[in-house]
Amino acid sequence: MIYGVISDVHSNHEALSAVLGCLEDIGVEGWICCGDLVGYGPDPDACLDRIRALENLSIICGNHDLAVLERMDLEWFNPSARAAVVWTRSNISGVNRAYLEGLTARLETAKFTLAHGTPRNPPEEYLLSPSQFRDNVPLVKTWPLFVGHSHMPLLFCYAPGDEEKIESRFLDDQEETLPRVESGAMAPVALNPGSVGQPRDQDSRASCGLYDSDKGTFRVLRVPYDIGAVQAKIRAAGLPEYLALRLAYGQ
Ligand code: ZN
Repeated sequence: MIYGVISDVHSNHEALSAVLGCLEDIGVEGWICCGDLVGYGPDPDACLDRIRALENLSIICGNHDLAVLERMDLEWFNPSARAAVVWTRSNISGVNRAYLEGLTARLETAKFTLAHGTPRNPPEEYLLSPSQFRDNVPLVKTWPLFVGHSHMPLLFCYAPGDEEKIESRFLDDQEETLPRVESGAMAPVALNPGSVGQPRDQDSRASCGLYDSDKGTFRVLRVPYDIGAVQAKIRAAGLPEYLALRLAYGQ
């Protein structure tokens, strides 16, 4: 089965539309979403309406979603992120708020595991180092593990035949063949598709992933979208200027 993998949409409807269009054209049969649907951007309802309509969707929430629901302390957020959380609280419909309330920050299915940041601390910890990957491996039963939160397209796995060594790398648009154990099941591997709505790897194009569970492959896709249109909406909404500027730099 082929899955479209998205994360950190952050109320950026132009980026989400471009990504969904690209993945639908490829013919994905299911969807994986690693949280942070809202926050930062100007279109929480338009994004949530699109995401709620996806068929065969496995989805979790992220720290920004929890903050909008007042389930996470705003002290955790920098000033522009905090301003966007407060703005989102009064610019989201009751239906979409209720949808967010039904999501958890970690989800284990029969085929894969989702955690916004890490399985050990889903809403807060950024999975960025080999030692963090090693610490989180015992907490996962079903691989691959899909994460978001850092807004970086990344892969972590053990080096082939050597569990003392961990490989980690940034993902470009090359297809990755994922490691398997002898039984044919997936070996420990963590995959971050990067951010749809606010990439932070100096590439301003929206980022998403394509997971083929039969072939055992994962590929990151980068999709251009109308950044100027989103910047105009951010300014019109009175959200912090920095949130508009950073989209152009992929930061
Ligand atoms: Zn995020």
